Amino acid sequence: MTTILFATGNAGKIREIREILNDPGIRVYSLKEAGVEAEIEENGTTFEENALLKAQQVAGWCRTHELPGLPDCNGKELTVLADDSGLVIDYLGGEPGIYSARYMGRETSYREKNANLISRLEGVPKVERTARFACAIAAVFPDGSHAVTTGTVEGYIGWQESGENGFGYDPIFYLFENDRSTASLPMDEKNAISHRGRALRKMREILEEKGRQR
Ligand code: IMP
Repeated sequence: MTTILFATGNAGKIREIREILNDPGIRVYSLKEAGVEAEIEENGTTFEENALLKAQQVAGWCRTHELPGLPDCNGKELTVLADDSGLVIDYLGGEPGIYSARYMGRETSYREKNANLISRLEGVPKVERTARFACAIAAVFPDGSHAVTTGTVEGYIGWQESGENGFGYDPIFYLFENDRSTASLPMDEKNAISHRGRALRKMREILEEKGRQR
């Protein structure tokens, strides 16, 4: 049995990772479920660095603390996963990038953030509005080794918000294939093509390979 702690407080991400890592040999817990209270600092300069920093900080914490939510698992036997993701807009030199969650302040609504980004692209034609969602997933294994996978989904920034699903920047991020925003897609369709889904499926292969080696 592989016990995975996914370093997030976001219930949506936990649901997605459970769907993708759906394997009777793998149990996935969130920080809250495990009772982890580590302070996590995100001071890397890339998605990959930030994901790895988060996973390493949580893995370090688990080695030195009791885990009340995982009574039959020693912190040293855990595989810790963490992710970092964001929206990269080419015309804006890659903004908001790793600052996606912090862009214009964490308390600012996404309606305002999205309106601001659209206004910064005023007069910019479709071919120059290219953007991508990017995600890095890092794993720290019980032996201290680590791995990082990445995934992206390409698209462009539209001229207005559309769609009611998803979260964050989904209403302004459009796919070239159908000119629909990712907020217009049902959740399973978005998960099938999403940056996080792609990075997670690559990580699943690494976890399966590790499982075979044990
Ligand atoms: P993280 O939770 O630190 O990875 O922050 C990622 C931020 O990037 C989120 O708060 C959103 O602003 C943005 N983001 C990442 N993935 C998506 C997505 O699938 N849809 C919309 N926004 C996203």
